[in-house]
Amino acid sequence: MNRRAFVQTTAGALAAAQMPAAAAPAPKMIGIQAGAVSFVDEGVEKVLDEFQQDAGINTLFVATFTYGRGIAGRQLSGQPLPDHGKQEYDNHGRNAFHGGSYTRIHAQYYKDTVLQDFRAPEFGDYDVLEAVIPAARKRGMKTMCWFEDVWSNNVPNVEQAQERQLDGGNAHTLCFNNPNYRNWLLGTVEDYARSYDIDGIMWGSERQGAFADALSSSHGGRVDVARTTCFCDFCERKARDRGIDPARARAGFDALAKFIRQEKRPIDGYYVSVWRLMLRYPEMLAWEMLWTDSLRETYAAMYQHAKSVKPALGVGWHIWHNNSFSPIYRAEQDLAEISQYSDFLKMVMYHNCGGPRMAGYIRNVASTIYGDVPADELLNFHYRVLDYKHEKRLAEIPQAGFSADYVFQEAKRARAALEGTKTQLWPGIDIDIPTGGSQSKSSPDGTKEAVLAAFRAGADGVLLSRKYSEMKLANLRGAGAALRELGLA
Ligand SMILES: [Zn+2]
Repeated sequence: MNRRAFVQTTAGALAAAQMPAAAAPAPKMIGIQAGAVSFVDEGVEKVLDEFQQDAGINTLFVATFTYGRGIAGRQLSGQPLPDHGKQEYDNHGRNAFHGGSYTRIHAQYYKDTVLQDFRAPEFGDYDVLEAVIPAARKRGMKTMCWFEDVWSNNVPNVEQAQERQLDGGNAHTLCFNNPNYRNWLLGTVEDYARSYDIDGIMWGSERQGAFADALSSSHGGRVDVARTTCFCDFCERKARDRGIDPARARAGFDALAKFIRQEKRPIDGYYVSVWRLMLRYPEMLAWEMLWTDSLRETYAAMYQHAKSVKPALGVGWHIWHNNSFSPIYRAEQDLAEISQYSDFLKMVMYHNCGGPRMAGYIRNVASTIYGDVPADELLNFHYRVLDYKHEKRLAEIPQAGFSADYVFQEAKRARAALEGTKTQLWPGIDIDIPTGGSQSKSSPDGTKEAVLAAFRAGADGVLLSRKYSEMKLANLRGAGAALRELGLA
Protein backbone atom coordinates (compact mmCIF):
# COMPACT_ATOMS: atom_id res chain seq x y z
CA MET A 1 0.00 0.00 0.00
CA ASN A 2 1.49 3.39 -0.92
CA ARG A 3 1.51 6.22 1.52
CA ARG A 4 -1.36 8.10 -0.05
CA ALA A 5 -3.63 5.07 -0.07
CA PHE A 6 -2.62 4.34 3.54
CA VAL A 7 -3.50 7.89 4.62
CA GLN A 8 -6.84 7.72 2.84
CA THR A 9 -7.69 4.35 4.33
CA THR A 10 -6.63 5.40 7.80
CA ALA A 11 -8.54 8.66 7.55
CA GLY A 12 -11.61 6.77 6.41
CA ALA A 13 -11.31 4.24 9.21
CA LEU A 14 -10.82 7.02 11.76
CA ALA A 15 -13.82 8.90 10.48
CA ALA A 16 -15.92 5.76 10.62
CA ALA A 17 -14.73 5.02 14.17
CA GLN A 18 -15.47 8.55 15.31
CA MET A 19 -18.91 8.87 13.81
CA PRO A 20 -20.89 5.71 14.31
CA ALA A 21 -23.71 7.63 15.98
CA ALA A 22 -24.01 10.10 13.14
CA ALA A 23 -24.13 7.34 10.56
CA ALA A 24 -26.77 5.21 12.34
CA PRO A 25 -30.36 6.50 12.31
CA ALA A 26 -31.58 7.73 15.70
CA PRO A 27 -33.52 4.96 17.48
CA LYS A 28 -37.29 5.46 17.42
CA MET A 29 -39.22 5.79 20.65
CA ILE A 30 -41.83 3.04 20.84
CA GLY A 31 -43.87 3.79 23.94
CA ILE A 32 -47.01 2.64 25.67
CA GLN A 33 -49.06 4.17 28.49
CA ALA A 34 -49.92 1.88 31.39
CA GLY A 35 -51.38 2.39 34.83
CA ALA A 36 -50.49 0.72 38.12
CA VAL A 37 -53.54 -1.55 37.98
CA SER A 38 -52.14 -3.45 34.98
CA PHE A 39 -48.89 -4.28 36.78
CA VAL A 40 -50.78 -5.22 39.96
CA ASP A 41 -53.37 -7.36 38.18
CA GLU A 42 -51.13 -9.08 35.65
CA GLY A 43 -47.62 -8.97 37.15
CA VAL A 44 -44.76 -6.76 35.97
CA GLU A 45 -42.85 -9.44 34.04
CA LYS A 46 -45.90 -10.67 32.17
CA VAL A 47 -46.92 -7.16 31.16
CA LEU A 48 -43.41 -6.32 29.96
CA ASP A 49 -43.20 -9.63 28.04
CA GLU A 50 -46.44 -8.73 26.31
CA PHE A 51 -45.22 -5.21 25.47
CA GLN A 52 -41.96 -6.46 23.98
CA GLN A 53 -43.44 -9.39 22.08
CA ASP A 54 -46.53 -7.64 20.74
CA ALA A 55 -45.20 -4.24 19.80
CA GLY A 56 -41.44 -3.98 20.44
CA ILE A 57 -42.07 -1.41 23.18
CA ASN A 58 -38.86 0.25 24.39
CA THR A 59 -40.30 2.98 26.64
CA LEU A 60 -42.90 2.75 29.41
CA PHE A 61 -45.12 5.72 30.27
CA VAL A 62 -46.24 4.75 33.73
CA ALA A 63 -49.25 6.69 35.04
CA THR A 64 -47.83 7.96 38.32
CA PHE A 65 -50.48 10.52 39.29
CA THR A 66 -54.03 11.29 38.24
CA TYR A 67 -57.53 11.42 39.64
CA GLY A 68 -58.90 10.57 36.19
CA ARG A 69 -59.80 7.26 34.59
CA GLY A 70 -58.36 8.16 31.21
CA ILE A 71 -54.88 6.91 32.11
CA ALA A 72 -55.41 4.92 35.33
CA GLY A 73 -57.77 2.22 36.55
CA ARG A 74 -59.25 -0.70 34.62
CA GLN A 75 -61.62 -0.49 31.67
CA LEU A 76 -64.60 1.85 32.14
CA SER A 77 -67.77 0.03 33.11
CA GLY A 78 -70.12 -0.23 30.15
CA GLN A 79 -67.14 -0.85 27.85
CA PRO A 80 -66.11 -4.44 26.98
CA LEU A 81 -63.26 -5.79 29.13
CA PRO A 82 -60.11 -6.49 27.08
CA ASP A 83 -58.67 -10.00 26.67
CA HIS A 84 -56.12 -9.64 29.48
CA GLY A 85 -56.09 -8.46 33.07
CA LYS A 86 -58.72 -9.07 35.76
CA GLN A 87 -62.08 -9.68 34.17
CA GLU A 88 -63.97 -7.26 36.37
CA TYR A 89 -64.58 -3.54 36.62
CA ASP A 90 -63.11 -1.40 39.39
CA ASN A 91 -65.94 1.06 39.95
CA HIS A 92 -67.02 -0.32 43.31
CA GLY A 93 -65.82 -2.49 46.16
CA ARG A 94 -62.79 -2.42 48.43
CA ASN A 95 -60.19 -1.85 45.69
CA ALA A 96 -62.33 0.51 43.62
CA PHE A 97 -60.55 3.12 41.53
CA HIS A 98 -59.82 6.23 43.57
CA GLY A 99 -56.87 7.97 41.91
CA GLY A 100 -54.02 10.06 43.26
CA SER A 101 -50.34 9.20 43.39
CA TYR A 102 -49.31 5.63 42.59
CA THR A 103 -45.83 6.32 43.95
CA ARG A 104 -44.74 6.92 47.53
CA ILE A 105 -44.98 10.58 48.56
CA HIS A 106 -41.61 11.91 49.75
CA ALA A 107 -42.81 14.69 52.03
CA GLN A 108 -39.66 16.85 51.78
CA TYR A 109 -40.64 17.88 48.23
CA TYR A 110 -44.08 19.19 49.20
CA LYS A 111 -43.16 21.62 51.98
CA ASP A 112 -44.10 24.68 49.91
CA THR A 113 -47.64 23.59 49.09
CA VAL A 114 -50.78 22.76 51.06
CA LEU A 115 -51.27 19.74 48.73
CA GLN A 116 -49.58 17.01 50.75
CA ASP A 117 -52.06 14.18 51.04
CA PHE A 118 -52.74 12.74 47.58
CA ARG A 119 -51.67 9.10 47.73
CA ALA A 120 -53.92 6.70 45.79
CA PRO A 121 -55.18 4.21 48.38
CA GLU A 122 -56.32 1.30 46.24
CA PHE A 123 -53.07 -0.73 46.31
CA GLY A 124 -51.86 0.09 49.83
CA ASP A 125 -48.11 0.79 49.97
CA TYR A 126 -47.53 -0.31 46.39
CA ASP A 127 -45.18 2.05 44.53
CA VAL A 128 -45.52 1.49 40.80
CA LEU A 129 -42.11 2.97 39.92
CA GLU A 130 -40.35 0.84 42.52
CA ALA A 131 -42.10 -2.22 41.09
CA VAL A 132 -41.50 -1.50 37.42
CA ILE A 133 -38.15 0.29 37.00
CA PRO A 134 -35.76 -2.57 37.92
CA ALA A 135 -37.57 -5.02 35.65
CA ALA A 136 -37.66 -2.49 32.82
CA ARG A 137 -33.94 -1.67 33.23
CA LYS A 138 -33.02 -5.34 32.97
CA ARG A 139 -34.74 -5.43 29.59
CA GLY A 140 -33.18 -2.18 28.41
CA MET A 141 -36.55 -0.42 28.51
CA LYS A 142 -36.88 3.22 29.57
CA THR A 143 -39.36 4.44 32.18
CA MET A 144 -41.13 7.78 31.98
CA CYS A 145 -43.32 9.25 34.71
CA TRP A 146 -46.62 10.21 33.13
CA PHE A 147 -48.98 12.41 35.10
CA GLU A 148 -51.81 14.77 34.35
CA ASP A 149 -53.69 17.85 35.45
CA VAL A 150 -56.74 16.02 36.84
CA TRP A 151 -57.72 16.48 40.49
CA SER A 152 -60.39 15.50 42.95
CA ASN A 153 -62.39 17.67 45.32
CA ASN A 154 -61.58 15.13 48.05
CA VAL A 155 -57.90 16.07 48.32
CA PRO A 156 -57.30 17.83 51.66
CA ASN A 157 -56.73 21.61 51.18
CA VAL A 158 -57.37 21.39 47.43
CA GLU A 159 -59.77 24.35 47.64
CA GLN A 160 -56.70 26.53 48.38
CA ALA A 161 -55.28 25.66 44.95
CA GLN A 162 -58.45 25.58 42.86
CA GLU A 163 -59.34 27.94 40.06
CA ARG A 164 -62.15 30.44 40.58
CA GLN A 165 -65.08 30.45 38.17
CA LEU A 166 -66.67 33.51 36.57
CA ASP A 167 -69.59 33.12 39.02
CA GLY A 168 -67.20 33.25 41.99
CA GLY A 169 -67.43 29.56 42.89
CA ASN A 170 -64.47 27.22 43.11
CA ALA A 171 -63.74 25.03 40.07
CA HIS A 172 -62.60 21.39 40.23
CA THR A 173 -59.50 22.46 38.32
CA LEU A 174 -56.31 23.92 39.81
CA CYS A 175 -54.79 27.30 38.94
CA PHE A 176 -51.33 27.47 37.35
CA ASN A 177 -50.84 30.91 38.92
CA ASN A 178 -51.57 29.65 42.43
CA PRO A 179 -48.28 28.99 44.27
CA ASN A 180 -49.81 25.93 45.94
CA TYR A 181 -50.29 24.26 42.57
CA ARG A 182 -47.11 25.57 40.99
CA ASN A 183 -45.05 24.33 43.95
CA TRP A 184 -46.85 20.98 43.91
CA LEU A 185 -45.95 20.53 40.23
CA LEU A 186 -42.31 21.46 40.83
CA GLY A 187 -42.19 19.30 43.95
CA THR A 188 -43.57 16.34 42.05
CA VAL A 189 -41.02 16.77 39.26
CA GLU A 190 -38.25 16.89 41.86
CA ASP A 191 -39.68 13.91 43.77
CA TYR A 192 -39.66 11.78 40.60
CA ALA A 193 -36.23 13.01 39.49
CA ARG A 194 -34.50 12.49 42.85
CA SER A 195 -36.33 9.45 44.23
CA TYR A 196 -36.27 7.16 41.18
CA ASP A 197 -33.96 6.06 38.41
CA ILE A 198 -36.30 7.37 35.71
CA ASP A 199 -35.56 8.42 32.13
CA GLY A 200 -38.03 11.23 31.84
CA ILE A 201 -41.25 13.00 32.69
CA MET A 202 -44.40 13.72 30.69
CA TRP A 203 -47.24 15.85 31.98
CA GLY A 204 -50.51 16.74 30.30
CA SER A 205 -53.22 19.35 30.75
CA GLU A 206 -56.44 18.95 28.79
CA ARG A 207 -57.92 22.37 29.39
CA GLN A 208 -58.16 25.83 27.84
CA GLY A 209 -59.00 29.39 28.78
CA ALA A 210 -62.34 31.00 29.50
CA PHE A 211 -63.03 32.41 26.02
CA ALA A 212 -62.58 29.14 24.12
CA ASP A 213 -64.43 27.33 26.89
CA ALA A 214 -67.32 29.81 26.84
CA LEU A 215 -67.82 28.97 23.15
CA SER A 216 -67.67 25.23 24.04
CA SER A 217 -64.86 25.04 21.50
CA SER A 218 -63.88 21.46 22.31
CA HIS A 219 -65.14 17.92 21.86
CA GLY A 220 -66.26 17.42 25.48
CA GLY A 221 -69.57 18.38 27.00
CA ARG A 222 -71.10 21.85 26.59
CA VAL A 223 -69.61 24.42 28.94
CA ASP A 224 -71.61 26.79 31.17
CA VAL A 225 -70.03 30.25 30.80
CA ALA A 226 -70.62 30.95 34.50
CA ARG A 227 -68.21 28.12 35.30
CA THR A 228 -65.35 29.18 33.02
CA THR A 229 -61.97 29.93 34.64
CA CYS A 230 -59.82 31.43 35.99
CA PHE A 231 -60.82 34.57 37.84
CA CYS A 232 -58.88 34.03 41.07
CA ASP A 233 -56.89 36.76 42.82
CA PHE A 234 -53.59 35.45 41.43
CA CYS A 235 -54.90 35.58 37.86
CA GLU A 236 -56.46 39.02 38.32
CA ARG A 237 -53.18 40.36 39.70
CA LYS A 238 -51.26 38.86 36.80
CA ALA A 239 -53.79 40.40 34.39
CA ARG A 240 -53.36 43.85 35.91
CA ASP A 241 -49.58 43.47 35.61
CA ARG A 242 -50.15 42.92 31.89
CA GLY A 243 -52.38 45.95 31.61
CA ILE A 244 -55.63 43.96 31.36
CA ASP A 245 -58.58 45.28 33.35
CA PRO A 246 -60.25 42.30 35.10
CA ALA A 247 -63.55 44.20 35.39
CA ARG A 248 -63.66 44.67 31.60
CA ALA A 249 -62.90 40.98 31.07
CA ARG A 250 -65.72 39.99 33.46
CA ALA A 251 -68.12 42.37 31.71
CA GLY A 252 -67.22 40.76 28.40
CA PHE A 253 -67.77 37.25 29.70
CA ASP A 254 -71.08 38.29 31.28
CA ALA A 255 -72.18 39.61 27.89
CA LEU A 256 -70.96 36.41 26.22
CA ALA A 257 -72.91 34.36 28.76
CA LYS A 258 -76.06 36.30 27.89
CA PHE A 259 -75.42 35.65 24.19
CA ILE A 260 -74.94 31.90 24.76
CA ARG A 261 -78.11 31.62 26.82
CA GLN A 262 -80.45 33.32 24.34
CA GLU A 263 -82.98 31.03 22.73
CA LYS A 264 -83.61 32.97 19.49
CA ARG A 265 -81.17 33.73 16.68
CA PRO A 266 -79.70 37.19 17.33
CA ILE A 267 -80.79 39.86 14.85
CA ASP A 268 -77.37 39.90 13.17
CA GLY A 269 -76.78 36.18 13.56
CA TYR A 270 -74.48 34.18 15.82
CA TYR A 271 -71.14 34.73 14.13
CA VAL A 272 -71.52 38.49 13.78
CA SER A 273 -72.69 38.78 17.39
CA VAL A 274 -69.61 36.97 18.71
CA TRP A 275 -67.41 39.27 16.63
CA ARG A 276 -69.23 42.29 18.04
CA LEU A 277 -68.46 41.06 21.56
CA MET A 278 -64.81 40.38 20.72
CA LEU A 279 -64.44 43.89 19.32
CA ARG A 280 -66.21 45.45 22.29
CA TYR A 281 -64.34 43.35 24.87
CA PRO A 282 -60.90 42.38 23.53
CA GLU A 283 -60.10 41.70 27.21
CA MET A 284 -61.76 38.31 26.70
CA LEU A 285 -59.07 37.33 24.21
CA ALA A 286 -56.39 38.77 26.46
CA TRP A 287 -57.83 36.63 29.28
CA GLU A 288 -57.64 33.54 27.07
CA MET A 289 -54.00 34.26 26.25
CA LEU A 290 -53.22 34.92 29.90
CA TRP A 291 -54.42 31.38 30.68
CA THR A 292 -52.46 29.93 27.75
CA ASP A 293 -49.29 31.78 28.72
CA SER A 294 -49.71 30.56 32.30
CA LEU A 295 -49.77 26.98 31.02
CA ARG A 296 -46.64 27.65 28.94
CA GLU A 297 -44.88 29.19 31.93
CA THR A 298 -45.82 26.08 33.89
CA TYR A 299 -44.25 23.88 31.19
CA ALA A 300 -41.11 26.05 31.23
CA ALA A 301 -40.84 26.01 35.03
CA MET A 302 -41.26 22.23 35.22
CA TYR A 303 -38.76 21.74 32.40
CA GLN A 304 -36.11 23.92 33.99
CA HIS A 305 -36.64 22.37 37.41
CA ALA A 306 -36.33 18.81 36.11
CA LYS A 307 -33.17 19.71 34.17
CA SER A 308 -31.64 21.43 37.18
CA VAL A 309 -32.05 18.22 39.19
CA LYS A 310 -31.07 15.76 36.46
CA PRO A 311 -29.99 17.25 33.11
CA ALA A 312 -30.27 13.91 31.28
CA LEU A 313 -34.00 13.56 31.90
CA GLY A 314 -36.27 13.79 28.87
CA VAL A 315 -39.07 16.24 29.61
CA GLY A 316 -42.11 16.86 27.45
CA TRP A 317 -45.86 17.24 27.22
CA HIS A 318 -49.03 15.50 26.18
CA ILE A 319 -50.94 17.86 23.86
CA TRP A 320 -54.73 17.54 24.09
CA HIS A 321 -56.81 16.07 21.26
CA ASN A 322 -58.70 19.38 20.96
CA ASN A 323 -55.69 20.47 18.88
CA SER A 324 -57.21 18.33 16.11
CA PHE A 325 -60.66 19.95 16.23
CA SER A 326 -60.68 23.54 17.46
CA PRO A 327 -58.84 26.20 15.41
CA ILE A 328 -58.71 28.36 18.55
CA TYR A 329 -56.96 25.67 20.56
CA ARG A 330 -54.69 24.85 17.63
CA ALA A 331 -53.69 28.52 17.41
CA GLU A 332 -52.71 28.32 21.07
CA GLN A 333 -50.43 25.32 20.40
CA ASP A 334 -47.59 27.34 18.92
CA LEU A 335 -45.10 24.50 18.57
CA ALA A 336 -42.08 26.67 17.76
CA GLU A 337 -42.73 28.52 21.02
CA ILE A 338 -43.48 25.41 23.10
CA SER A 339 -40.44 23.57 21.69
CA GLN A 340 -38.16 25.86 23.75
CA TYR A 341 -39.05 23.86 26.84
CA SER A 342 -39.88 20.48 25.32
CA ASP A 343 -37.54 17.58 24.60
CA PHE A 344 -40.53 15.84 23.03
CA LEU A 345 -44.19 16.42 22.36
CA LYS A 346 -46.80 13.71 22.45
CA MET A 347 -49.29 15.23 20.05
CA VAL A 348 -52.57 13.37 20.39
CA MET A 349 -53.62 11.97 16.99
CA TYR A 350 -56.24 9.45 18.03
CA HIS A 351 -57.71 8.46 14.66
CA ASN A 352 -60.47 6.12 15.78
CA CYS A 353 -62.14 8.17 18.51
CA GLY A 354 -61.26 11.26 16.44
CA GLY A 355 -64.40 10.74 14.33
CA PRO A 356 -66.93 10.76 17.17
CA ARG A 357 -64.99 13.49 18.95
CA MET A 358 -64.96 15.76 15.88
CA ALA A 359 -68.72 15.24 15.56
CA GLY A 360 -69.05 16.30 19.20
CA TYR A 361 -66.93 19.39 18.62
CA ILE A 362 -69.06 20.40 15.61
CA ARG A 363 -72.25 19.93 17.65
CA ASN A 364 -70.80 22.19 20.36
CA VAL A 365 -69.70 25.12 18.21
CA ALA A 366 -72.83 24.82 16.04
CA SER A 367 -74.70 25.89 19.17
CA THR A 368 -72.51 28.94 19.87
CA ILE A 369 -70.37 30.96 17.44
CA TYR A 370 -71.45 29.01 14.31
CA GLY A 371 -75.18 28.79 15.01
CA ASP A 372 -75.90 30.12 11.50
CA VAL A 373 -74.06 27.37 9.63
CA PRO A 374 -75.51 23.95 8.72
CA ALA A 375 -73.43 21.29 10.47
CA ASP A 376 -72.20 19.58 7.30
CA GLU A 377 -70.91 22.87 5.91
CA LEU A 378 -69.34 23.64 9.26
CA LEU A 379 -67.47 20.34 9.22
CA ASN A 380 -66.21 20.97 5.67
CA PHE A 381 -65.02 24.41 6.72
CA HIS A 382 -63.05 22.82 9.55
CA TYR A 383 -61.60 20.16 7.23
CA ARG A 384 -60.35 23.03 5.03
CA VAL A 385 -58.85 25.18 7.77
CA LEU A 386 -57.40 22.21 9.67
CA ASP A 387 -56.09 20.67 6.41
CA TYR A 388 -57.74 17.25 6.52
CA LYS A 389 -58.09 15.94 3.01
CA HIS A 390 -59.79 12.57 3.15
CA GLU A 391 -62.17 12.47 6.12
CA LYS A 392 -65.81 11.47 5.89
CA ARG A 393 -69.10 13.38 6.19
CA LEU A 394 -70.65 14.32 9.51
CA ALA A 395 -73.23 11.54 9.39
CA GLU A 396 -70.45 8.98 8.90
CA ILE A 397 -67.55 9.98 11.18
CA PRO A 398 -69.04 8.73 14.46
CA GLN A 399 -69.21 5.21 12.97
CA ALA A 400 -66.19 5.47 10.65
CA GLY A 401 -63.70 7.36 12.82
CA PHE A 402 -60.91 9.33 11.20
CA SER A 403 -58.53 7.74 8.69
CA ALA A 404 -54.81 7.02 8.86
CA ASP A 405 -54.42 10.00 6.52
CA TYR A 406 -55.52 12.24 9.39
CA VAL A 407 -52.58 10.89 11.40
CA PHE A 408 -50.30 11.50 8.43
CA GLN A 409 -51.49 15.09 7.94
CA GLU A 410 -51.22 15.94 11.63
CA ALA A 411 -47.80 14.34 12.07
CA LYS A 412 -46.50 16.05 8.93
CA ARG A 413 -47.78 19.42 10.10
CA ALA A 414 -46.32 19.03 13.60
CA ARG A 415 -42.99 17.81 12.23
CA ALA A 416 -42.80 20.85 9.93
CA ALA A 417 -43.67 23.22 12.78
CA LEU A 418 -40.86 21.67 14.86
CA GLU A 419 -38.30 21.84 12.06
CA GLY A 420 -35.00 23.25 13.26
CA THR A 421 -35.81 22.55 16.92
CA LYS A 422 -34.48 19.81 19.20
CA THR A 423 -37.98 18.62 20.03
CA GLN A 424 -38.94 15.07 19.10
CA LEU A 425 -42.43 14.35 17.80
CA TRP A 426 -44.16 11.31 19.28
CA PRO A 427 -47.75 11.06 17.97
CA GLY A 428 -50.23 9.53 20.41
CA ILE A 429 -51.82 6.51 18.70
CA ASP A 430 -55.36 5.37 19.59
CA ILE A 431 -55.74 1.77 20.71
CA ASP A 432 -59.25 1.04 22.00
CA ILE A 433 -59.98 4.44 23.48
CA PRO A 434 -63.64 4.07 24.49
CA THR A 435 -66.33 5.30 22.09
CA GLY A 436 -70.13 5.00 22.21
CA GLY A 437 -71.83 1.64 21.65
CA SER A 438 -72.60 2.11 17.94
CA GLN A 439 -69.48 4.14 17.23
CA SER A 440 -66.21 3.35 15.50
CA LYS A 441 -63.95 0.77 17.21
CA SER A 442 -60.22 0.16 16.91
CA SER A 443 -59.07 -2.66 14.65
CA PRO A 444 -55.69 -4.32 14.09
CA ASP A 445 -55.49 -2.95 10.53
CA GLY A 446 -56.62 0.53 11.56
CA THR A 447 -53.99 0.65 14.30
CA LYS A 448 -51.32 -0.63 11.92
CA GLU A 449 -52.16 1.99 9.30
CA ALA A 450 -52.09 4.78 11.90
CA VAL A 451 -48.60 3.79 13.07
CA LEU A 452 -47.32 3.51 9.48
CA ALA A 453 -48.78 6.95 8.70
CA ALA A 454 -47.07 8.54 11.71
CA PHE A 455 -43.64 7.30 10.64
CA ARG A 456 -44.26 8.06 6.97
CA ALA A 457 -44.82 11.67 8.06
CA GLY A 458 -41.48 11.77 9.87
CA ALA A 459 -42.41 11.02 13.50
CA ASP A 460 -39.54 10.30 15.90
CA GLY A 461 -41.59 7.70 17.75
CA VAL A 462 -45.13 6.69 18.65
CA LEU A 463 -46.92 6.52 21.97
CA LEU A 464 -49.64 3.86 22.16
CA SER A 465 -52.49 5.34 24.21
CA ARG A 466 -54.38 5.79 26.51
CA LYS A 467 -53.82 2.85 28.83
CA TYR A 468 -52.95 -0.82 28.47
CA SER A 469 -55.88 -1.84 30.68
CA GLU A 470 -58.33 -0.88 27.91
CA MET A 471 -56.37 -2.27 24.93
CA LYS A 472 -57.18 -5.50 23.14
CA LEU A 473 -54.06 -7.54 22.43
CA ALA A 474 -54.99 -7.97 18.75
CA ASN A 475 -55.01 -4.19 18.30
CA LEU A 476 -51.73 -3.77 20.17
CA ARG A 477 -50.31 -6.39 17.80
CA GLY A 478 -51.62 -4.31 14.92
CA ALA A 479 -49.22 -1.59 16.03
CA GLY A 480 -46.53 -4.27 16.32
CA ALA A 481 -47.17 -5.41 12.74
CA ALA A 482 -46.50 -1.87 11.49
CA LEU A 483 -43.33 -1.60 13.56
CA ARG A 484 -42.04 -4.93 12.25
CA GLU A 485 -42.79 -3.85 8.70
CA LEU A 486 -40.68 -0.75 9.38
CA GLY A 487 -37.91 -2.79 11.00
CA LEU A 488 -38.55 -1.09 14.37
CA ALA A 489 -39.74 -4.13 16.33
ZN1 LIG B 1 -56.25 31.63 38.80
